[in-house]
Amino acid sequence: MRPVRLARPVSLAALFERLMMTDSAVIQLPGALSALQMLAYNLRWSWHSPTRNLFQRIDADLWRSTRHNPVRLLGEVGSDRLDALARDEAFVAAVRAAEADLRTYLEGEETWYRHRHGPSDGRLVAYFSAEFGITECLRIFSGGLGVLSGDHLKSASDLGVPLVAVGLFYSEGYFLQHIDGQGNQRDSYASLDPRLLPIRPEPGQDGAPLLVSFPFGDHEAHARIWRVDVGRVPLYLLDTNVPENQPEDRRITDRLYGGDNEHRLQQEIVLGIGGVRALRAVGREPDVIHLNEGHAAFAACERAGGMIRDGEAFRDAAARVADGVVFTTHTPVAAGHDYFPLDLLEKYLGGYMWEMREPWERFITLGRTTHDPRFCMTALAIRLSSIRNGVSRLHGAVSRTMWQQIWPELQEQDVPIRHITNGVHLPTWVGDDIARLYEDRIGSHWQDDCDELHWHRAAHIPLNELARARTVQRTRMVERVRQYLAAEAQRRGEDTSWTAEALDPEALTIVFARRFATYKRATLLFHQTERLEKLLRDERRPVQFIFAGKAHPKDVPGQALIKEIAQFARRPEFRDRFIFLEGYDVELARHLVQGADVWLNVPLRPYEASGTSGMKAAANGALNLSIPDGWWAEAWEEHNRLPEPIGWSIEAGAQADSLDLDGPEAGRLERDRADAAALYELLENEVVPLFHRGTDGVGREWAKRMRAAIRQLGGYFNTHRMVRDYVEIAYLPAAARNATAPSNQVASQA
Ligand SMILES: *Cc1c(COP(=O)(O)O)cnc(C)c1O
Repeated sequence: MRPVRLARPVSLAALFERLMMTDSAVIQLPGALSALQMLAYNLRWSWHSPTRNLFQRIDADLWRSTRHNPVRLLGEVGSDRLDALARDEAFVAAVRAAEADLRTYLEGEETWYRHRHGPSDGRLVAYFSAEFGITECLRIFSGGLGVLSGDHLKSASDLGVPLVAVGLFYSEGYFLQHIDGQGNQRDSYASLDPRLLPIRPEPGQDGAPLLVSFPFGDHEAHARIWRVDVGRVPLYLLDTNVPENQPEDRRITDRLYGGDNEHRLQQEIVLGIGGVRALRAVGREPDVIHLNEGHAAFAACERAGGMIRDGEAFRDAAARVADGVVFTTHTPVAAGHDYFPLDLLEKYLGGYMWEMREPWERFITLGRTTHDPRFCMTALAIRLSSIRNGVSRLHGAVSRTMWQQIWPELQEQDVPIRHITNGVHLPTWVGDDIARLYEDRIGSHWQDDCDELHWHRAAHIPLNELARARTVQRTRMVERVRQYLAAEAQRRGEDTSWTAEALDPEALTIVFARRFATYKRATLLFHQTERLEKLLRDERRPVQFIFAGKAHPKDVPGQALIKEIAQFARRPEFRDRFIFLEGYDVELARHLVQGADVWLNVPLRPYEASGTSGMKAAANGALNLSIPDGWWAEAWEEHNRLPEPIGWSIEAGAQADSLDLDGPEAGRLERDRADAAALYELLENEVVPLFHRGTDGVGREWAKRMRAAIRQLGGYFNTHRMVRDYVEIAYLPAAARNATAPSNQVASQA
């Protein structure tokens, strides 16, 4: 039978109409191309460039305009095009090869986990997170936390770690950012139609979509479950937008960080309690649960509920549950920790705890802190876990200071919170040209295991090849940025002619791209604008800056920083070399980390718990110019005495070392001034002269530092190393404890 396909042009409305009849897109493909369906629905393409290249070959414009969404691409591309491709032998062969590669990947038994720890024997870790940043078309993340979660899943998949993940499907995702002509951030939302995304409904036994129910104040609410395949790792996303819900409950999972405190509490109930029930419903009973940030801490309560046996108190079950719970805290910034007023909490969970026969007064002590009368989710997560960690060495120490209050009897250094330093998933972030050098010099190990042992072979990368790859990647980024600028100018109804000439592919390119939280101090460079202008005016040693980042819609001070930068970027004399790009997301991040020469990071120490964008840039040969905070504090400490420096640490003397937790405003102006001065010294005396020392593009001295940075940092600051650490420091010990808890043995024999 001849398959029915959508003719082009097709309106999205018409496409929706067709799809309304089903729960996921029915992509009709010619037989020779049928494997594209499987390739589209496994997000491994997000880190497998041969598969991405296939999608691009189908229709490069559509691939780009759908934000790299293969389900929409295949639904919207015309049947003529697909028929033509089905007759193109080379293309068909490439599809078959990609399919074979994916099957080998999914079924392969030669994984790090199996090699090191044997068959999983039913052992399973469930990773809970409120956001997952896997690919740009699935906008269910806001920033670093989500990207880290996404990278965690990708590495767990590559390493063969038995892991499943739980999150929320936000029907409108995170906000979209536009900057108006005055530099004001404008936020808007667009709905994400699950049927047009590479996700599928998880079916129940009868084939109908699964629905889980959970307590919600005076009634029950429901969520359906979407399944996302991230390589070998299934990610289950809960979605309350179902007809079985009361109208207001349908909106619980509408937006990420988009509502008030009550809305946040509602989402956390879905994530924690609904999430554990969802796992049960799909037949996955994890030995260990990993709470990535306090948002999911109710998951531990629900597990305790599931373990309560006749007459047992919630408290005793909870103590047992803690054996199998791993908790990662991600920030010292107060706004990053959820606190809920007690009456609000009782409104939603009073009945739930009553059913568990846990006296309310006793339950709320689990979220008690000495500094806030409200219920603290971080405190709950700490108390209901047995292995806890911060995300860099420094952040581990800061976290012990912050949470010593939970163990008043202990010395600070004995507080049981350790650290596992964050990483990035290298195959996702490394650009094609640098990747080719790694393939040649390090071998396929560079992405299979990213192991430090193999990584040291990066010392053999020839400097001239490295310099060339750097220039190619920078040039490609410049071209992309010009397209972004043209699109922005067009949307604002402004002149676009200058954008084709914006940026210089040969200039030293300094990038600052991250969320505009105030502690990240995006405007530190503006402390002495005259020095900034002087750098920008130097025609002999050209320097250019690119800024990007979103401020949360309620973060008024953060938006003021954007405005200051965006207005400077509009000055006619600088607009071609000082740029603010709107809509920072993982796609833009990829372009920027791959093209930057210098990655600038100026947080107020010690508020940057880790930071990961600098690791992505370093793996692409950028040099970090950073305050010694988060990951950089530890990278610098380890490697700053080597003959070839790995970058620069912005140190303004003793002030930079104070672990001041009195709040970000304590002594703020002085510290900003001192750090800004130190930053300018480095830029003027070291960074700019060194870059322009050669005669043609990237000079030899610069390339030596690039190579030193790659060699020293790449093998450690990646998520393969990080996930291996989680397995060995956290998951396996937690699983072992959990298994030896006497009551669990009884439970599993029963
Ligand atoms: C990597 C990444 C981040 C995290 O960057 P930080 O260095 O932690 O500030 C945030 N947003 C996006 C889109 C990213 O890719």
